[in-house]
Amino acid sequence: MTTTIDGRAVAARVRAQVAAEVAASPRIPGLATVLVGDDPASAVYVAAKRRAVREAGMRDLHRSLPAHATQAEVTTVLDDLAADPAVSGILLQLPLPPGLDAAPLLDRIPVGKDVDGLTAASAGRLARGEDGLRPCTPSGVLELLDAEGVKLRGAHAVVVGRSALVGRPMADMLLQRDATVTLAHRHTADLAAVTRTADVLVVAAGVRGLVGAGHVRHGATVIDVGIHRTPGGLAGDVRTAELDGIAARVTPVPGGVGPMTIAMLMANTVRAARWRRS
Ligand code: ADP
Repeated sequence: MTTTIDGRAVAARVRAQVAAEVAASPRIPGLATVLVGDDPASAVYVAAKRRAVREAGMRDLHRSLPAHATQAEVTTVLDDLAADPAVSGILLQLPLPPGLDAAPLLDRIPVGKDVDGLTAASAGRLARGEDGLRPCTPSGVLELLDAEGVKLRGAHAVVVGRSALVGRPMADMLLQRDATVTLAHRHTADLAAVTRTADVLVVAAGVRGLVGAGHVRHGATVIDVGIHRTPGGLAGDVRTAELDGIAARVTPVPGGVGPMTIAMLMANTVRAARWRRS
């Protein structure tokens, strides 16, 4: 029997916990989303994040800038938000319009307000095994694994994909949880041979249907981070139907990792607010 992990249910639980913590807070946490330009996909993502902020009872401190905003103008907005005590967390929505350089802008965000966990300082803390705010998608994956009671200490975890957003922080976070970690990527010689040794397999390659029955060991837990629009609806990096009877647990697409990302952003915002108070 293969269990389908219900990401929507776990995400709802996390969001309810966040709302309860907000309700009990002496000061209402605030998230500042920063959207530069009018990329339609980014606008949709930011709108969803702002809605979640309000649903959690937090302050929506959104800032919009035009597509022609200069590097200096975006820097000024980020510096204002960094200095503003009402702002618990700052999220610079990526990608930025052409002509803007994301890395130095991200690094204007103080570590204590880096709710996306993507600045060099936050990534450095994670790499050194220090406490800090972690990127939302890999945090969501860990939350799902914990909700399912999947043992990580001593387990072999294989992560497919080495992006700064998902694969690399995921590998570090699994390492911090005492898993033995293998990080596979597009140059891995025999991907199936590597993934077949995984107890926990996290696939974040951005390649639709990359992983199927031949990649998975009996009893493994498979987490699919991929998301692709297809004529038949959304699909992931994993051919999930093939894993029936092979994997112990799989995440569906949609309804697996996807709903966790915003839930973990809310959790990070509350955590950032708590730090500022302590
Ligand atoms: P994401 O946002 O999901 O992390 P990216 O496109 O930023 O996606 O990164 C994709 C990652 O997946 C890269 O690290 C790349 O090496 C890896 N990758 C892409 N294709 C394959 C493949 N066929 N096999 C293994 N890894 C792959």
